[in-house]
Amino acid sequence: FDIRRDTVTASEKDFENALRPLQFSDFSGQQKVVENLEVFVEAAKYRGEPLDHTLLHGPPGLGKTTLSNIIANELGVGFKLTSGPVLDKPGDLAGILTSLEPREVLFIDEIHRLSPVVEEYLYSAMEDYRIDIMIDKGPSARSIQIDLNPFTLVGATTRSGLLTAPLRARFGINLHLEYYEPETLTKIIQRSAGILRVPIDTDAAVEIAGRSRGTPRIANALLRRVRDFAQVKGTGRIDVAITEVALTALNIDRYGLDEIDNKILLMIIDKFKGGPVGISTIATAIGEDAGTVEEVYEPFLIMEGFIKRTPRGRMVTELAYTHFGRNPCNGNIM
Ligand code: ADP
Repeated sequence: FDIRRDTVTASEKDFENALRPLQFSDFSGQQKVVENLEVFVEAAKYRGEPLDHTLLHGPPGLGKTTLSNIIANELGVGFKLTSGPVLDKPGDLAGILTSLEPREVLFIDEIHRLSPVVEEYLYSAMEDYRIDIMIDKGPSARSIQIDLNPFTLVGATTRSGLLTAPLRARFGINLHLEYYEPETLTKIIQRSAGILRVPIDTDAAVEIAGRSRGTPRIANALLRRVRDFAQVKGTGRIDVAITEVALTALNIDRYGLDEIDNKILLMIIDKFKGGPVGISTIATAIGEDAGTVEEVYEPFLIMEGFIKRTPRGRMVTELAYTHFGRNPCNGNIM
């Protein structure tokens, strides 16, 4: 069983889509982000204009795609979805841009992974709703200008640090999504269980929420697996007993830490005597780049109190030691 972020199979995608909130009122948490978006959407609707280009950044599974969908729904316009790595050639982008209806939302996931040429095309599209396309080759090559319908680009990224300055500057709205509180995740799990028509006790929802790494995608994925256990080995109802059985069988960490979280913490404990250690040293030791550690992995570990930032680098806390059954004084197994 793999709940690693970013690896989503086709059946999981269908499952995710079935649970996706379609309106702001169904979307729990991220209160500040939602409040701001509601105002901007309302104002754009009132003026009959497209919403300003919007950048959503934050770790995977926190609702960037969902929010973009909601934006389109609330604006009463269409929604087209693509992603940075898929837009290989300028022609791919031109094809999508010229198909957009007025005020439609174009969602580009992983926008930090656009190729430089494609990104270049996007600039004039975003700014002037216009693209220049080269036709023909050799001596007869010439560029023609194509006018586009005014549209809204919603870009999503887990790595806003990798965005180029010119691209970043073209987004009028820039919002950051945070990890969710357990209480909010509990509500999301209860809502999802309702849609799936599986009865769930509150304490069971709380238990799943606590192990979901602050992430709705993981909460829904765990709910799906616990439902299997409840239906095959239990009474069909998700209570706390069957939840414990399922989560133990699935080897889910008590705090929802995943493989990479564990690797980071154990490495600081074992190789660096608990720290302080610099972010780039951590990154090298686990084979990631420093930016990914800083933007994707570390925020959760800091929020949950496993790591703290000091002027000389990162240190693990006592909680990290006790979580692995280690002695905080010397790192030995207790
Ligand atoms: P991202 O695009 O940030 O990776 P998604 O928007 O695909 O994340 O969300 C992943 C899953 O979590 C979806 O099934 C979605 O329905 C659910 N989800 C995300 N945020 C919320 C929320 N605030 N309330 C309810 N469900 C959510």
